[in-house]
Amino acid sequence: MSVAPRTDGVLVDRYGRVARDLRVSLTDKCNLRCTYCMPAEGLPWLAGPELLSDDEVVRLVRVAVERLDVTEVRFTGGEPLIRPGLLDIVGAVAALEPRPRISITTNGIGLDRLAPALRTAGLDRVNVSLDTLDPARFTQLTRRPRLDAVLAGLAGAAAAGLTPVKINSVLMRGVNDDEAPALLRFAVDHGYQLRIIEQMPLDAQHGWDRGTMVTAEEILASLRTRFDLSPDPTERGAAPAETWLVDGGPARVGVIASVTRPFCGDCDRTRLTADGQVRACLFATEESDLRAALRGGADDDELARRWRTAMWGKRAGHGIDDPTFLQPTRPMSAIGG
Ligand code: SAM
Ligand code: SF4
Repeated sequence: MSVAPRTDGVLVDRYGRVARDLRVSLTDKCNLRCTYCMPAEGLPWLAGPELLSDDEVVRLVRVAVERLDVTEVRFTGGEPLIRPGLLDIVGAVAALEPRPRISITTNGIGLDRLAPALRTAGLDRVNVSLDTLDPARFTQLTRRPRLDAVLAGLAGAAAAGLTPVKINSVLMRGVNDDEAPALLRFAVDHGYQLRIIEQMPLDAQHGWDRGTMVTAEEILASLRTRFDLSPDPTERGAAPAETWLVDGGPARVGVIASVTRPFCGDCDRTRLTADGQVRACLFATEESDLRAALRGGADDDELARRWRTAMWGKRAGHGIDDPTFLQPTRPMSAIGG
């Protein structure tokens, strides 16, 4: 094993994992208040000058693509669709050589209107978060009555060709834990791919509880009450979702068991926050300040060197089950989920 970060090429850590998938948070703000993510009153948002400008975002993504061999770029947040410069950023990233694959994780509000322009700008795919199909539950869960807007966003994304359209769902005990089969029925009927995610300790309120979390095992048992699930023969690779064929296929369903079946050994992610900090992991407690370097006049080589050094220190695993586990100070919405 090598003992120091490489001085050129890919983002590799001391365990030999190579990060080719970049998650970029475009804002920490959001127009929903999902209970597992944010408190009702919102959070102390980053101030304008703290945020990377559109040009700064594009420059850092360019460094990642051109010098660090990143091949996938996903924009997230907060809610990325509320970033004013989104279309310009997507367009500039799509013009990079070699062109990375570009996707967005969004709550879907406004996507019906934005999807055609995003497609034209170069967006390839979307993941839309949707935890319930019941309007009252949606309002309870997100604290905003916007289910119809999300459903319209999903349909708009599919119509614009941002496919495969994936749905991300988080189940919460006593709230929507009975809804896995209905969500899968809805997804299969509409040609969307459902992925159900175990809730993680990343809420700003620190309300996560391992004991009440709905586990992958429970999710699968619940789905199997209505569907036949068989192993998916396609290679999983670094994908976080373990997938199953639904009733013999071709429809698939994924379960992301970040807590009960961690996939850290195959992780190929690197993360950039909206204020320009590199994080090696969602659960990292350390960050590397690329914004300060960039604004201090660092050239692209220096930015790439700092990024490599940050990733070299990536820990082997998130350690959620370790008694010494500490939830990161930044909540999910500020890291970029
Ligand atoms: N606002 C966008 C959205 O909701 O898709 C993008 C940001 S959101 C933080 C990204 C994803 O993280 C969503 O699918 C959301 O459901 C998920 N998420 C948020 N908090 C979570 C938690 N505590 N555990 C698991 N997933 C969470
Ligand atoms: Fe907003 Fe996404 Fe967090 Fe929900 S999960 S509050 S939509 S950032």
